[in-house]
Amino acid sequence: MDSLFSYGNLGASDDAPGQPPATALEALRTVFGYDSFRGQQADIIDHVVRGGDALVLMPTGGGKSLCYQIPALVRDGVTVVVSPLIALMRDQVTALRELGVRAAFLNSSLGPAEAREVERAMVQGEIDLVYVAPERLVTPRFLDLLDRTRLALFALDEAHCVSQWGHDFRPEYLQLSILHERHPMVPRIALTATADVQTRAEIKDKLGLTDARVFLSSFDRPNITYRVVPKKSERQQMLAFLRDNHPEDAGIVYCMSRNKVEEVAAWLNQQGREALPYHAGLPAETREANQDRFIKSEGLVMVATVAFGMGIDKPNVRFVCHLDPPKSLEAYYQETGRAGRDGLPANAWMAYGMADVVMLRQMLEQSEAGDSHRRVERGKLEALLGFCETSDCRRQVLLNYFNETLPEPCGNCDTCLDPVETWDGTIAAQKALSAVYRTGQRYGAGHLIDVLVGNATEKVVQQNHDQLKTFGVGKDLTKVEWQSVYRQLVATGLLTVDLEGYGGFRLTDAGVAVIKGQRVVKLRKDPVLERRRGVHDALRRHTARGGSVGGGLSGEGVSRSGARGTLSAADDALWHALKDCRTTLAKAQGVPPYVIFHDSTLLEMVAQRPRDHATFAHLPGVGGRKLERYADAFLEVIRQHG
Ligand code: ADP
Ligand code: ZN
Repeated sequence: MDSLFSYGNLGASDDAPGQPPATALEALRTVFGYDSFRGQQADIIDHVVRGGDALVLMPTGGGKSLCYQIPALVRDGVTVVVSPLIALMRDQVTALRELGVRAAFLNSSLGPAEAREVERAMVQGEIDLVYVAPERLVTPRFLDLLDRTRLALFALDEAHCVSQWGHDFRPEYLQLSILHERHPMVPRIALTATADVQTRAEIKDKLGLTDARVFLSSFDRPNITYRVVPKKSERQQMLAFLRDNHPEDAGIVYCMSRNKVEEVAAWLNQQGREALPYHAGLPAETREANQDRFIKSEGLVMVATVAFGMGIDKPNVRFVCHLDPPKSLEAYYQETGRAGRDGLPANAWMAYGMADVVMLRQMLEQSEAGDSHRRVERGKLEALLGFCETSDCRRQVLLNYFNETLPEPCGNCDTCLDPVETWDGTIAAQKALSAVYRTGQRYGAGHLIDVLVGNATEKVVQQNHDQLKTFGVGKDLTKVEWQSVYRQLVATGLLTVDLEGYGGFRLTDAGVAVIKGQRVVKLRKDPVLERRRGVHDALRRHTARGGSVGGGLSGEGVSRSGARGTLSAADDALWHALKDCRTTLAKAQGVPPYVIFHDSTLLEMVAQRPRDHATFAHLPGVGGRKLERYADAFLEVIRQHG
């Protein structure tokens, strides 16, 4: 029984069973310890409590879980939550039990006796939520169990898993319509953070939710600061970024290949930054152990391929770095979206350079997809490159891609914070393009730049390229500037990459039009030096405002203008002491620290310094159960820090 009931048991069942909360607001306050609903939560919960079907489209960190957890408490009967990953179920159930909610899961990690115990609790109505893997759900045994259980609600989490085109496709999701066929009176709520329109339509269709009310939230993540920096020495750049901004925070670094994951993780450790690798080539036990450590520790860096991420509920991932470009803007949004779930400031940082652009173009050229599919791929690539190369607000570009309009520049991305200059690069582009043309459309940037700046290397001389008209016509720009020009020419499709030979550049029709003077070229001026902003630890910056740290996705709690400052020494000492207290409690129970309290709750303790239970109870994230269990320990720490 250990894995299921290892801390506490079925939630509150050891206490005299309390009265279930009568209203949604009461549940929010007494169980979850929050004052008010966010965004559309109140409407969604109201609709579902009344028995309506709902499709909830809300970004990561938007607060989807409450949308079914609260109806589960208010409605009579058992809520069945379909969830695709064991780790996800475990984390959710752990967090719910901490709150005193009667929750359990049923999946392959349970032994038969444990599973039977959960089944019994369902039939007896001793449980409010049960998380189930989709493959178990559709078994005759489970369907029979459902027939004998009083059901409150079906919640279909990560509903995009039903999409065959997405990378999280789970065939069993296609069978979930059986729930509605067998239990037409039980309401259903499907939830996803997927931003793309096609997948949304597919969810409705495949899950038979055509009549469900759709709740669409903004997909903006205002607390995430987006940055894309030109690559020079990517590791050093990243290390500097981490030192400046996240000296002790947890985060994820995405790389494309398994080898690179291993190398970067090892290198970070050498640099004194604790890091672990994660990719599909590692043994399952190693992957699981590394993931577990990431979730349970405070300042660890996970270096990973895209195999890592789905089902990571850790709310205080403070940064997501990309050392290689993501596959698409959808992927980028999803990967960076793992930062800052708790609504506190977080960073999305990408290093991007010429080699990446060339590689992406090559991948597209090599793709064996049919014509129409290829057009889609091309469109996605152009969108991604457009995002990387933009001199406009990155958030506007990103949201626009998901058909959402942000009326004003966001003020919280690199191009807003450090506006990028653009210049009329038509003449430079003509020179760069004619160098390609005159050398026979066979060479990459290195050789072409030698020709442009008049560098008579052995190769240049050997090929007689020092005799060309373009030899030396580009002395007005530095090598680095020419790199930037070529990168942008490839990114904007004026050049393409030859697949035969050595990846040399070739002109496209658009490129020819530039040479002929039929087209102007606007280029961005890459920032020469990355400016080191004294932002430091995002959390500190945040408390320095002196205000409440709540707000989350509503945007109010988020400093957009880059308010700066640091915690005072006393606050800093208290903050670390509170974190230590949390770690000790978490270790004793074998749960992740954030399950005890989120960072935002600890930061409120620093800001408000509650002295007694009454004031402690007002902190966001402190419900009845947590007040009872943890107030004394944290109040003692606060007392010691005067
Ligand atoms: P999602 O599942 O949409 O990614 P979660 O349900 O994990 O988001 O919620 C994100 C964070 O916001 C969690 O830390 C959660 O406790 C917090 N949260 C959700 N709703 C509220 C609310 N009404 N008030 C304060 N915090 C909230
Ligand atoms: Zn912006």
